Parts: sequence; structure tokens; C-alpha cells
Amino acid sequence: MPASLLERMGAVLRPVGLCALCAMPTRQTLCEPCKDQYLGGIGPRCGHCGLAQPADGLTCGICLRLPPPYIRTLTLGDYGVPIDRLIQRLKFSNEPAIGRWLGKLLAAHWRAAGHPRPGLVLPIPLSSARLQQRGYNQAWEMARSFARELRTTARSDVLMRVREMPPQSSLPLALRTQNVRGVFAAPYPFKAQDVVLIDDVMTTGSTLGEAASVLLRAGAATVSVAVALRTPPPG
Ligand SMILES: [Zn+2]
Ligand SMILES: [Zn+2]
Repeated sequence: MPASLLERMGAVLRPVGLCALCAMPTRQTLCEPCKDQYLGGIGPRCGHCGLAQPADGLTCGICLRLPPPYIRTLTLGDYGVPIDRLIQRLKFSNEPAIGRWLGKLLAAHWRAAGHPRPGLVLPIPLSSARLQQRGYNQAWEMARSFARELRTTARSDVLMRVREMPPQSSLPLALRTQNVRGVFAAPYPFKAQDVVLIDDVMTTGSTLGEAASVLLRAGAATVSVAVALRTPPPG
């Protein structure tokens, strides 16, 4: 039976639950209106880093001053109240299925934007302590469903975390670039191909930028970024 038919049957058979934001009955993680409002990727954004911009096709001032190593950022929306609750549940309430649902949404946006099929999809790895504590890497849950939808390969053994660091969220924005330096490695050579890096939330872009630089040095042809949510700049 074709996968799409199985998936459609799965959607029909999935029991009705409650929207994670407004508690309306729905068969998905969020009801359609909440999904459109908070995860619809609405509004023009900087193509490089995903920050909201006043008009389409603009590169933001930050990327003009210091172009990031990744060529594009795809995001479903801005991180903030109330959608931050979904990310909290994904990370701290043992709900990896939310990650798989977000990966699927990201793939639909990727396809709708007309981006070419990536050669390889990689999650930002968690520290081993965090992975042990949580039991899963939410970025890997997203990456593998994103890859499955786009009929390409996801791997969790290409980009490795080789140094522990204090969590980025515990540091002021200005110290985050320094904090991630030397954290990642791509120990095995891999074929030059277009890579997509996946994470749940992108704040300064330091973590994704560092990972992208490592992958480019290891032979990636290009690196793109796909994140569920993008934190708007302070103020
Ligand atoms: Zn809702
Ligand atoms: Zn930008």
C-alpha cells in the first residue's frame, strides 16, 4: 500500500484529542486555526536567517554585516507566547511525537517554497547528559520525519557533539557564539551534498552557524537550516 494512503488512513484513525494551545477538539497536535496562526510561517523573512522583515526578498542588517555560513533558514513562525508551550512540552514532557509532527510541517513548507530535495538531513545533537535525561533528541525526531516526507536520508551519526558546554539558554546573547566554538565535529568524511540542519528553536543562530561551519569544512556542498521557531531579536 502506498505510504501516502497509509498516512491518510492514519490521520483518519487518529483519535480526536485537544489542541495543545486552545483545547479545541482536533486530530492533530494543534487545531487548524492555531496551526495557521502560530506555525503558518507567515510574513516576509530574511532568506538567510529567518528573521521577520518588512518585505519579501530583503536580507536583514545582521546578515548583511556578517553573512551566516548557511544559505537559507526555513521556519514555521516566531518563538513566543503561547507557542513556546508546545516547545516546552516537546522538550520536557516526554512528547517526542510533537517533534515528528513539526518535522512533517517543516517538510510541507520546504516543498511549498520550492526548495530542492536535500541530500542529507541532520539534527543538532544533544549533549549525552541531556539525551540520557530526556530519552530522545527532539531535533532527531523532527529530522527523521522531515527526511521521510521529502524522501531523503536523515542521520544522527554525522554531526557529533565533542565538547560539553553550558546550555545556550543560560547565557547572555553576546556570549553564545564563544560558548559553542569547538562543540561539534564531523569525524567521518561524507560525500559533498546539500545538507539541512534541523533544530527546534533558533535564537542567535550561533549553534546552527557553528554546526554549519563544521559541516562545510567536512565537505558539505551547502548547508540550509530548518527550525520550528525563530526567536525575534530583543525589543
Ligand atoms: Zn487551537
Ligand atoms: Zn538575516
